[in-house]
Amino acid sequence: LFAGPVDFLLSAPELHHLPPADRIEVCFAGRSNVGKSSLINALTGRKSIARASNTPGRTQALNFFSMGDRLRLVDLPGYGYAEAPVKLVEQWQATLKGYLAGRPTLRRVFLLIDGRHGAKKVDHEIMELLDRSAVPFQAVLTKADKPAAGTIEKVAEALKTDLARHPAAYPEILTTSSQKHEGLERVRAAVAGLLEL
Ligand code: GDP
Repeated sequence: LFAGPVDFLLSAPELHHLPPADRIEVCFAGRSNVGKSSLINALTGRKSIARASNTPGRTQALNFFSMGDRLRLVDLPGYGYAEAPVKLVEQWQATLKGYLAGRPTLRRVFLLIDGRHGAKKVDHEIMELLDRSAVPFQAVLTKADKPAAGTIEKVAEALKTDLARHPAAYPEILTTSSQKHEGLERVRAAVAGLLEL
């Protein structure tokens, strides 16, 4: 699956741009700078994907990629852009909410959280939105190579307590380092497992 081609499909700033819901979709989401581009690149072995999503005009849009003919990867741009114009933020939030609440083919959101800092306010807001939308999500701690010894365990412990309060959350937390190529197989396996259901 991850060895095959990954092709940019389209960018959807508004709901009417969405592709038909005719493939299983997995979404990668997280705050800006969480390491999402790096993780998607590391998982797929392709640098072009994150670049396609970071093109101007696509940073507040859902970016769809085809992985083979059964699965789509959806790159959800880093949220928490306080500096964006209010109108754009509102439009983007409406798109995001509409997508999450009305996408039967969306099987899981991988919610990326910085392994040094843990979940922030916007992460909790997204978790609540995912609960309300009944979209299963799984937390992925990123940059596991960076924190001082013991830090990531503490972050994971606190996150586990948080996740227990969210009905849409998977209890299992994945831990990754894109830099050291650690934890990638488990993310790939989690994605591949969604095709079996
Ligand atoms: P995005 O904004 O979420 O797409 O984040 P990027 O993938 O662009 O990464 C943000 C910064 O974190 C960059 O400077 C990356 O080099 C760095 N980074 C990303 N992943 C890792 C990682 O696994 N380990 C370390 N040490 N740094 C990382």
